[in-house]
Amino acid sequence: MQIIDSQFLVSNTDVQKCPINRLPDYAFIGRSNVGKSSLINALCNKKKLAKTSSRPGKTQLINHFLINKSWHLVDLPGYGYAKTSKTKKKVFQKYITEYFQKRKQLATAFVLIDIRHKPQSIDLDFMYWLGEKKIPFSIIFTKADKIKSNNVKVHVDQYFNIMNNQWSFLPNHFITSALKKNGLIEILNYIGKINCEL
Ligand code: GDP
Repeated sequence: MQIIDSQFLVSNTDVQKCPINRLPDYAFIGRSNVGKSSLINALCNKKKLAKTSSRPGKTQLINHFLINKSWHLVDLPGYGYAKTSKTKKKVFQKYITEYFQKRKQLATAFVLIDIRHKPQSIDLDFMYWLGEKKIPFSIIFTKADKIKSNNVKVHVDQYFNIMNNQWSFLPNHFITSALKKNGLIEILNYIGKINCEL
């Protein structure tokens, strides 16, 4: 699949105000600076579709884009722990968890992880939470051009070795570089395949 048409639709913090139609959502999420805007722009072949740095406010919003007039690319805010007042239990921000729990047309999520770093508990916890809620997701490793190609598998395996202890199966994953435009076609074909199956 290729993206031939992409347009911004709406931003908000309330899942109830997300576009009401039957088009599937493909949600992109990860910690800030993971390379999410760069990846979205590279996927859509537009320089400034997702403009995190120049529109700082938008980073805390659920941003819907209409792609090829047939599906939504959803740029979600970076997740972080929000401690509840009553307990010390770590929870993710409410509008993020509400989006995942209430958005019926969510087809799949893509969790972005910077391939340079050692496994981070916040990313593992977030994926574990998605798994518990039975929300389908894949991992997108970003910025692969920043490490030596022999190290790519080493870094991916570090994640999967940990996840192997918690999971009965491992999620799909993609190795990408927005800079070199690597791994993009694989993501788009994957989305195209799911769209055909819906
Ligand atoms: P966001 O906060 O997750 O939206 O991250 P950005 O897309 O704004 O990227 C954060 C920083 O990482 C910027 O300086 C980007 O230029 C850089 N970056 C993003 N993707 C890549 C990539 O694939 N390769 C390299 N080398 N740098 C990247």
